Amino acid sequence: MKRSVSDLAVFGGRPEFLNPILVGQPNNIDRRRFFDRMNWALDNQWLSNGGPLVQEFEERVADLAGVRNCVATCNATAALQLYARAARLTGEIVMPSMTFVATAHAMRWLGLKPVFCDVDPDTGCIGVPQVEAVLTERTAAILGVHLWGRACPVDELEKVAADRGIPLFFDAAHAIGCSTSGRPVGGFGAVEVFSFHATKVVSAFEGGAVVTDDDELAGQIRALHNFGIGPYGHEAGGTNAKLSEAGAAMGLTSLDALPEATRRNEENYDLYRAELDELPGVSLVEFDRRERNNYQYVIVKIDESVTGIGRDLLQELLAAEKIVTKRYFSPACHELAPYATENPVELPHTENLARSVLAVPTGTRTTAEDIRRVCGVIRLAVTEGRTVRERWRRRENAEHALADPGRVV
Ligand SMILES: *Cc1c(COP(=O)(O)O)cnc(C)c1O
Repeated sequence: MKRSVSDLAVFGGRPEFLNPILVGQPNNIDRRRFFDRMNWALDNQWLSNGGPLVQEFEERVADLAGVRNCVATCNATAALQLYARAARLTGEIVMPSMTFVATAHAMRWLGLKPVFCDVDPDTGCIGVPQVEAVLTERTAAILGVHLWGRACPVDELEKVAADRGIPLFFDAAHAIGCSTSGRPVGGFGAVEVFSFHATKVVSAFEGGAVVTDDDELAGQIRALHNFGIGPYGHEAGGTNAKLSEAGAAMGLTSLDALPEATRRNEENYDLYRAELDELPGVSLVEFDRRERNNYQYVIVKIDESVTGIGRDLLQELLAAEKIVTKRYFSPACHELAPYATENPVELPHTENLARSVLAVPTGTRTTAEDIRRVCGVIRLAVTEGRTVRERWRRRENAEHALADPGRVV
């Protein structure tokens, strides 16, 4: 237990953790069930091309999402692209900048132009006013992101899209197993896309899925993800974006573990809340308890004007304690290459939010004791924020002076 600023590892103290604790650590799975599935696939020598494990995985994801169709893919990035191709989108795609850069890159890679809009400062998601501010006659579609698993205002966005006669689709990479107004994420817009990347709450090592109630669209996407083979032809031909049986074996085993992961994540979230509650300048992004949430991200917001210590310095200080946090998502997409120079825009709410958020470790490998220790460091750093910042500044100056003895500091 660190008692004073001098105990912090950035100032020479012993790191709080010997072994790093991380955001996005794989959740526990039942390894036997995973190896049983793998052995079954190997015994039967069906390793890809929509095998039985992929089919089962697709059925279970569709069930969870409350939709008729699921096409499993090699990742979410390709899944977003498959929809854009299937829908023959050309022109501008309105989307938030407050997302993982894959959302934007996926569209740009196809020659589409990401047009970033600001987000609602409270939710971090796009809403009608933000979208309307950037819609033009070149807008081909609206792409919403259910940031941290909290759904966009889906009904309002559907109405705007319908009024404009353009499609709406969702990057639901964070939102498997989540709901809004009691309805599962997965059934909104033309399609929704999940990610089953290794760091996500449901993992297929690498994987993704397009889910939709539109049978025809699903058929086209299914063909497109397999070289255009199948009953639904498409002038785009096709690509290869299939999920393997090994990926599906992992995905199924990870889905088996989702209820337990969700339960543990919620407990972790509650403990972070209890530990950081009433710490001035620190707040946790909230979840609506009436909805289903997967709680895979615990997002701490730092108000530097109150704490004296900013998010970046806090992150650095935690890293020295071997507490590896993530800036989900900072810099925001519009602040990154190539968008920052290609199409410079100012998005004040996005910039404010991006600058203040930090995802902290959770998941089934994170124990209550780990969380208490993480929070102990955060409490010390924040309550002594101004002292920490001042010492840090002096240390940096001293380092510069060492590197450049001629420099006056
Ligand atoms: C992880 C993530 C993606 C990319 O998913 P992949 O499966 O790795 O392609 C896209 N968007 C968001 C918001 C993500 O968090």
